Amino acid sequence: MDKKRLEYYKKKLVTRRDELLRTIARTQEEGRTADEDPTVDLADKAANSYTKEFLFGMTSTDRAILAMIDEALRRIQSNQYGVCANCQEEMQPKRLDAVPWAKHCITCQEKKEQGLF
Ligand SMILES: [Zn+2]
Repeated sequence: MDKKRLEYYKKKLVTRRDELLRTIARTQEEGRTADEDPTVDLADKAANSYTKEFLFGMTSTDRAILAMIDEALRRIQSNQYGVCANCQEEMQPKRLDAVPWAKHCITCQEKKEQGLF
């Protein structure tokens, strides 16, 4: 992959990473504030724990994406970015445009989802 394209994906990954880190920090802050608020009565607390579950659910997805982004950034550093981790073929640009942290090409990703490797 040429340097210009690599820089383009790197920028996308870094931007997304910053957004995710901000979202995660905000979610944790909101969870803490709700817990420590003594004026919140029991009914509200119950509603809060529901909200929290929802927020934490989101956070775990965010964390998974964050881990994939970190991995993609490491692949950029070690010159392995843009190559499918399974078949070693160069990945389709439209695949990377849609999911810049993708580790597998579309074909392999489909096989993976079907449990074929
Ligand atoms: Zn592949």
